[in-house]
Amino acid sequence: MIKTDVVIIGAGAAGLMCAATAGQRGREVVLIDHSQKLAEKIRISGGGRCNFTNINVRPECYISNNPHFVKSALKQYTQHDFIALVEKYGLTYHEKTLGQLFCDQNSQGIIDLLKAEVDLGGVIWRMGTSIGQVEQIDGGFVVTTPTEVWQCESLVIACGGLSIPQIGATPLGYEIAKQFGLSIVPLAAALVPLTFQAEDLWAELAGVALENVVVSCGEMSFREDILLTHKGVSGPAILQISSFWDAGKTLAIDLIPDLDLSDFFRLANRDSLISNVLADVLPKRFLLVWLAKYGEIRPLKQYSTKELLAIEADLHTWQVKPSGTVGYKKAEVTRGGVDTDQLLSKTMMVRNVPGLYFIGEVVDVTGWLGGYNFQWAWSSGYVAGLNI
Ligand SMILES: Cc1cc2nc3c(=O)[nH]c(=O)nc-3n(C[C@H](O)[C@H](O)[C@H](O)COP(=O)(O)OP(=O)(O)OC[C@H]3O[C@@H](n4cnc5c(N)ncnc54)[C@H](O)[C@@H]3O)c2cc1C
Repeated sequence: MIKTDVVIIGAGAAGLMCAATAGQRGREVVLIDHSQKLAEKIRISGGGRCNFTNINVRPECYISNNPHFVKSALKQYTQHDFIALVEKYGLTYHEKTLGQLFCDQNSQGIIDLLKAEVDLGGVIWRMGTSIGQVEQIDGGFVVTTPTEVWQCESLVIACGGLSIPQIGATPLGYEIAKQFGLSIVPLAAALVPLTFQAEDLWAELAGVALENVVVSCGEMSFREDILLTHKGVSGPAILQISSFWDAGKTLAIDLIPDLDLSDFFRLANRDSLISNVLADVLPKRFLLVWLAKYGEIRPLKQYSTKELLAIEADLHTWQVKPSGTVGYKKAEVTRGGVDTDQLLSKTMMVRNVPGLYFIGEVVDVTGWLGGYNFQWAWSSGYVAGLNI
């Protein structure tokens, strides 16, 4: 049995930040990950350029059973703190859209930065090491791996969610939570493309992008682009709304959010085919398929007022009922997780298991698309790192 102050399970975004913070405070930290490769999810993130934070980070951009839970950690370690760290390492970045900050270099720059910070803290690395058993003992925990047995005062679970099992996601974090009697808010793939019923599939439309549309599910809506795919629908607006979608719910898509179509039709050439008139605002390939539900495509003047009003209403609230999601293999994150009611928001420690901490995606906190999830990993990892 080797004694140490802290064991962290999971060397992803949250685990690395936590290890660096605790190590630099002088704590002896062991960082264990079953993967041989470091932080694969950071490497593939943001299309290889890592959308490492968002300048507009605020609690409203996180989904959790307790919407106030994120406030403390996000305040203690802000997006500006991480931006300062990025600048300290000489990395440059740019804002892509909606406050999303991406590296100018590639994601490896962020991984190298975190590794350097962890090494500054003198952390003991155990990559390629699986976890056998986790037990609570008097005054701490025992973590058993195939080759070593570690005894620690503080144990941090940073194993992430279920997304992308191909690069090492496992349910270990949830299993450890259950072992300690903690409840789990039901899990679901989120920030994920949605699928259509076979009869709703329009294979010939795969690849069509519809720009700047408003996608709504209940009270929530996002205005961004969508992309029709062979299986259903994807693109940033769909990934965003997927975090609010549950089986059976219908999406409403406003394809022309700023357009008064009655005015538009009134000013248009009434001898033109309706598909040509609408091609000024929507892709023609889409219109030729979509308009078929109103019969043969005719010149504008041959449509009755009733038909034009129906088309207008349909374009503003196109009802789409997804059949499901493409699942964890493609989902960016896992919604749900360790119930925040059981954690102290200032430190991420389990209320009634002193010394046990959960950070990052394994917790019931899911950010919007756009750098919010990494910011949660940095912030929750940092606050735990200060307290372990
Ligand atoms: C394709 C993709 C792109 C993304 N792009 C972005 C983006 O640009 N911006 C953004 O903010 N978010 C992005 N995300 C989300 C972001 O990557 C995660 O929210 C974030 O990595 C969560 O950090 P974490 O440390 O909690 O978990 P992870 O980063 O997933 O780390 C968990 C670690 O635990 C280890 N582990 C798991 N099981 C075990 C086990 N049984 N034993 C030992 N170790 C284990 C894993 O190997 C891994 O290293 C993206 C996600 C995906 C999948």
